[in-house]
Amino acid sequence: MKVAIIGAGLVGSLAALNFARMGNEVHLYEYREDIRTAELVQGRSINLALSQRGRKALAAVGLEQQVLATAIPMQGRMLHDVRGRTSVVLYDPCTKQCLYSVGRKQLNEVLLNACEKLPNISCHFNHKLTSADIREGVMQFKRAEEHITASADLIVGCDGAFSKVRQHMVKAAGFNYSQQYIEHGYVELCIPAKSGEFQMPPNYLHIWPRDTFMMIALPNQDKSFTVTLFMPFKNFAAIKTPEQLLEFFNKFYADAVPLIGEERLVQDFFKLKPQYLLSVKCQPYHFSDKALILGDAAHAMVPYYGQGMNAGMEDVTLLTSLLNKPLKLQEVLEQFSEMRWQDAHTICDLALYNYVEMRDLTKRWSFRCRKWLDTL
Ligand code: FAD
Repeated sequence: MKVAIIGAGLVGSLAALNFARMGNEVHLYEYREDIRTAELVQGRSINLALSQRGRKALAAVGLEQQVLATAIPMQGRMLHDVRGRTSVVLYDPCTKQCLYSVGRKQLNEVLLNACEKLPNISCHFNHKLTSADIREGVMQFKRAEEHITASADLIVGCDGAFSKVRQHMVKAAGFNYSQQYIEHGYVELCIPAKSGEFQMPPNYLHIWPRDTFMMIALPNQDKSFTVTLFMPFKNFAAIKTPEQLLEFFNKFYADAVPLIGEERLVQDFFKLKPQYLLSVKCQPYHFSDKALILGDAAHAMVPYYGQGMNAGMEDVTLLTSLLNKPLKLQEVLEQFSEMRWQDAHTICDLALYNYVEMRDLTKRWSFRCRKWLDTL
């Protein structure tokens, strides 16, 4: 079977590997240039928390250990209160399971390198899908000024939250779709390494919960932390000058200011506009035996549960298990949609709820821990 995968991000490249390992002819089309040679773009979650779902999917294609070799284990949350005091909430004190901080670029590179090793995968970078006839399996791409037509037996949309493939499926009868932008956005900042070392304990997901907003930080391989400030857009808009920014940070995140550095804080904060966060629910995920959507294309979610990529990778695990059964392709895709949509909708809801948990409840938990520690 000739399979066209649209989007060579984390889910698309993993899906390509799985289809190819089953002997299909795979064409992987990506809008951007090859991420392995591209410069890192600020503002798009440089690192991610990899959990059991993602690890299982990577293990299935023999890449788990390679990814974990450069990942940083995070055994729990380290909570920073407004006075700079910290407390720890372990994820799993009994079996010591943890999350891993992985670089988006590094992970994508590992997957693309594995794709390139398989002779039945062809990678087409700088190819933007502009339209598709999903009934006929015909696709139009734009590469620079050139227009390219290609065809496939199955089109798999792994093209993210604003999926072009999904746009074509929306027109089909029986396709349910909803999207929700939340009123909070985010900016990415950085706590750089100091004298070649981490400036905070590295094996934690750091959280500064502050009721209606919060900041988090995940460790990077180069001993820096990627810091993400989540806040209502109206609060971002109220910070117009470096002085206002420093006043805000000194009030709410005073312990982080010397770690980020005032100059860098001002520079990074004002470099990019706050990014929007989107939650997408749809159902079914397939059209006949001709098209399918996976990952954010099927169920983009707000990032507060750290499960967007992990859930997308789990899509691939489920799909592969169904493709290995003696079923017709149409049956596989029907079963995939049926088995997946409720879980995906639920995790989208949990992700929205976890924002309240992280910015608010963890704060109470932190104070409870503090009270408890004070009694010792
Ligand atoms: P994407 O990563 O969006 O990849 C889609 C690809 O398709 C891109 O390469 C794009 O260039 C390409 N594309 C788009 N349109 C076209 C087109 N027309 N033609 C060709 N190619 C196209 N998830 C976690 O599991 N853990 C975390 O800790 C985590 N943290 C996050 C933090 C933030 C701030 C954000 C915003 C998200 C976070 N996520 C996290 C979610 C995670 O980033 C996504 O779920 C994941 O990237 C989805 O992968 P994907 O391959 O489905 O989509």
